[in-house]
Amino acid sequence: MKRRVAALLLSSILFVGFADAGGPRRVTGPASKNPGQPLIWDVSTPIRFTVDGGPLSVDPSGHVVISNSQGVARVQSLFQNWQSVSTASITYSYAGPITAPGLPPDGDVKTIQDFNAVLGTCNSGSQNPVIFDADGSLLRALGLNPLVIGFAGTCKLDPQAGHIVSALVFLNGEFQDGINDPSTSNYELTPDQFDEAITHELGHFSGLDHSQINLDLFQSGMVGNCNVDKLAGLPLMFPVAFCQSRKSAGLPILAPDDIAWISKLYPNSGFSSNYGIISGFIFFSDGITHVQGVNVIARRVDDPSTFTFTGNPGQPITGNNTAGSPYGSRNPALIGYYEIPVTPGNYTVQVENLDAAFTHGSSVGPLDPPAITYGAYEFWHQYESAFDDPSKKDPLRVQAGQKLSNINIILNQTPPRFDQFEDGEVQLEQPKPPFVFPASLEPWILGKAS
Ligand SMILES: [Zn+2]
Repeated sequence: MKRRVAALLLSSILFVGFADAGGPRRVTGPASKNPGQPLIWDVSTPIRFTVDGGPLSVDPSGHVVISNSQGVARVQSLFQNWQSVSTASITYSYAGPITAPGLPPDGDVKTIQDFNAVLGTCNSGSQNPVIFDADGSLLRALGLNPLVIGFAGTCKLDPQAGHIVSALVFLNGEFQDGINDPSTSNYELTPDQFDEAITHELGHFSGLDHSQINLDLFQSGMVGNCNVDKLAGLPLMFPVAFCQSRKSAGLPILAPDDIAWISKLYPNSGFSSNYGIISGFIFFSDGITHVQGVNVIARRVDDPSTFTFTGNPGQPITGNNTAGSPYGSRNPALIGYYEIPVTPGNYTVQVENLDAAFTHGSSVGPLDPPAITYGAYEFWHQYESAFDDPSKKDPLRVQAGQKLSNINIILNQTPPRFDQFEDGEVQLEQPKPPFVFPASLEPWILGKAS
């Protein structure tokens, strides 16, 4: 992961506090009766997951560092981080070891053949496996970067119902083998950092996307010793791991953004008495054309964005969009629409570009690579226009159960738009890595200074 110092920092953010910008990983598309909704699990019963039958981590001499029973217990307890969010209704239950054709009865996943067999059961919707790659060899065999701590994603979706049917988690135990030797690309994390990586993957498993908040902290090039106030607001669902563990800084494992978004996707009866919603549209300078692919942040004074429109509508001239992405609404009225769940309080709302480094498995939202041509750095204020002072901001007071609508931001000095379906530039197919990595599986990468 390349690190760079941002040329443009949001110097006007004086409140470090808590901010909110997450979202669902996928939203429903044309097959659904209700396009533009998050794809979520049916949580009327617990989500059943199976776990690898082998150890979670072994060192290069084959000595077990984290046994299978310790690994199973750890995964179970880390699922609790999401399950115990007081305003969310999602629950999980352990359903025993992984089973797949050709796999030994103990369910130990070791080879590419094993992995493919297990992926097959996930793709068919019959199992939600958590795979342990005890020494990182499977990850390397898959052609992935050894900096990948783990990956996760949905396997099978029900696009009509808007439900996730099955999902998979893959954990790289080499980060816990007691050896930190960059010369062999064997890196190490503290147990708390590894727990956070697992919890991050379980967030993807649950349907959450990456969240870009406190981007300036990442862009500052800081590694391992982040400012605690900023770390407090940094989502666990940030695309890259680069700070010390939240626990070591005395912080809860989930940030306010993570808690707000799991609750927005799976609200229980307590959600509306604990959260309000800020919503609106982002416009180009013409004040009419909706902008997609920028990050919208509500920042609490004293301190997310969702992308409901598709990232690829296909080819609309003939009216046939079958070549487009199956995810996201085709309703152009939803372009640039955002909703942010926030706890009661006073907020400012702002937009910023997505970091251009967040591509492929580290992407945020449906646009990969992100659109970075807009100078999208602006706060909302009462008299929005294309000629206003982007640093001028008016606070919004949000109460529990309240929805503030039409908090719309008009970006300044954007290029004129020919029409709202114009793409800005023609994008050739991105080069693919040698292993065709399922787009729905998202690796969490260890951030390193370069
Ligand atoms: Zn991730």
